[in-house]
Amino acid sequence: MLPAEIIMKVTEHIKQAKSTLFSIEILPPLKGKNVQSIFDGIDPLMEFKPSFVDVTYHREEYVYKKRDGGFLEKISIKKRPGTVGICAAIMNRYKIDAVPHIICGGFSKEETENALIDLQFLGIDNVLALRGDSIKSEPSFVPEPNGHSYAVDLVQQIVKMNKGKYLENEMEEVAPTNFCIGVAGYPEKHFEAPNMISDMKYLKAKIDAGGEYIVTQMFYDNKPYFDFVKKCRDAGITVPIIPGLKILTSKKQAVALPKTFKIDVPQEMLEMIEKCKNDKEAVEAGIEWAIQQSKELIKFGVPCLHFYTMGTSEATRRVASKIF
Ligand SMILES: Cc1cc2nc3c(=O)[nH]c(=O)nc-3n(C[C@H](O)[C@H](O)[C@H](O)COP(=O)(O)OP(=O)(O)OC[C@H]3O[C@@H](n4cnc5c(N)ncnc54)[C@H](O)[C@@H]3O)c2cc1C
Repeated sequence: MLPAEIIMKVTEHIKQAKSTLFSIEILPPLKGKNVQSIFDGIDPLMEFKPSFVDVTYHREEYVYKKRDGGFLEKISIKKRPGTVGICAAIMNRYKIDAVPHIICGGFSKEETENALIDLQFLGIDNVLALRGDSIKSEPSFVPEPNGHSYAVDLVQQIVKMNKGKYLENEMEEVAPTNFCIGVAGYPEKHFEAPNMISDMKYLKAKIDAGGEYIVTQMFYDNKPYFDFVKKCRDAGITVPIIPGLKILTSKKQAVALPKTFKIDVPQEMLEMIEKCKNDKEAVEAGIEWAIQQSKELIKFGVPCLHFYTMGTSEATRRVASKIF
């Protein structure tokens, strides 16, 4: 566990910052790899002093295997294990804050409480509270029996624990947790929301419930982010809104990312990528785009630039070297 003076909440990092902060999000490595692959991804970025490292959570997926007699057996596979352990390893090695993502999907309220107790035990005081996406075999999000349907419900549970209210009222002498809670926001609207007004209403509900800052979905055009910040402020959302950035690193990502993350790729960027003869040229173009995007965001006054590294740090290192 880190000494108390090193552990800080994301909101404290932002409050104390004299300039735009740098932070990253990493994915737990695929099943079978070890924590060294995480360190190999973070080491090259340490010179830019990330204020915190987010670690995503990936719920179980299921495959069906044919057994004797034609029966189909549902088998749970977990491709990216270890969010909690990885956070502890990062804090221990680098002496910086780790932010585990906690999701509703696949968790009952009891399991959520147990995960949060583990985090508190390890001295991890930051969490990003999310609903999670539906699993591939389900057309829309299905909560666990006795689980949460929306991120706002998860935020409420964490806030209760921060007040010392656990699920089991009979528990005696429970220590209140001390989590700083971040939530997700979507400058181009969450894909399930019927419109932006509705999405904004539920974002506001997450903040009113206790969300202390927002991290946005990735975007490649700053204009929707600027508009989103204005809409949030008009709606009475006053918390920091951290832009999330993913550097384009291959030609096919220009088509794959919009599909996976339900985001737009601006026409100017698309034309630029189409002109690239190969991925090597696409990486250069993606890095240049991210540098210009970052400079404009800093000018706008964003609290932090949060990079989705997705297991590769070289592009982020090159952008950070021009910005920080
Ligand atoms: C920064 C960031 C990090 C992420 N990290 C992960 C991760 O680690 N693991 C992972 O699995 N996924 C992750 N995701 C993906 C995220 O889980 C999905 O985008 C998911 O579909 C929505 O999550 P949410 O927390 O925004 O959900 P919510 O805030 O619950 O919103 C989901 C949808 O429901 C609507 N809604 C909300 N409340 C209500 C209500 N009470 N009634 C009706 N409608 C409502 C919203 O408008 C929205 O359309 C991340 C996303 C972002 C932006």
